[in-house]
Amino acid sequence: MRQFFALQDLNINDNYHFDEEQLHHLKDVLRMKENDLMRIVCSNGKAFIGQLHFERESVFATILEESFVTDKREITMVASMIKREKWEWLIQKSCELGVSKIVPLESKRCIVHIEEKQLDKKLNRWNKIALEACQQSNRNTICEVVEPIKLKDINEYKADINFVAYENENTKLLRDALKDGSVCFVIGPEGGFEESEVEFLTKQGFETVSLGERILRAETAGLFVLSVIEAYQ
Ligand code: SAH
Repeated sequence: MRQFFALQDLNINDNYHFDEEQLHHLKDVLRMKENDLMRIVCSNGKAFIGQLHFERESVFATILEESFVTDKREITMVASMIKREKWEWLIQKSCELGVSKIVPLESKRCIVHIEEKQLDKKLNRWNKIALEACQQSNRNTICEVVEPIKLKDINEYKADINFVAYENENTKLLRDALKDGSVCFVIGPEGGFEESEVEFLTKQGFETVSLGERILRAETAGLFVLSVIEAYQ
């Protein structure tokens, strides 16, 4: 069933009026018709089944009943910023794989730096990519991409289980570090983390884990972690 995000709260019997972009999508792309059903997710995370109606000028969905599909757990990905195309690809794919929050990290070997004056524009673009990917993959929740942080601010994002993917970790595998609860994981940039950064993270309670013997690209590493978490539960 197709899904739309309504950036407002809704209740049963309400009529939800689509915005321009959604209208174009449902009429011209999906070619939806009178009485078609869809999932509509509200800003408070509740999802409903809506039924489409075309009435003269207006196109709206009547909210019929609540629909229950929830994320299995909160997952925060703290990912060192990488080159634009790969970064945007990482946002899109990690949303499909269930990430709840993406925290861009400026680590020492990052070759990408976002200037203050570009920040709003970038954040808007990243969040738009995230929203579309969440919508497309029928999620109930919208993943948020927050402002870039430095490593010293990492504690703000700690969860029940915290780890950093580190290619020099030889013994502890990711699957052995997993248990129930919220997760926060950290991924390095193209050139990896410096040792001092990994030491800092360890001191903050982030356990180093291996993703296997092969060295993965940063964006592959993020998606690998999310897939393993998905398979674990
Ligand atoms: N230092 C390396 C690799 C960087 S890979 C180099 O320059 O060759 C980019 C990031 O992906 C790493 O910082 C790490 O977080 C993650 N990563 C890639 N392969 C990994 C593995 N086998 N185990 C754990 N983490 C890995």
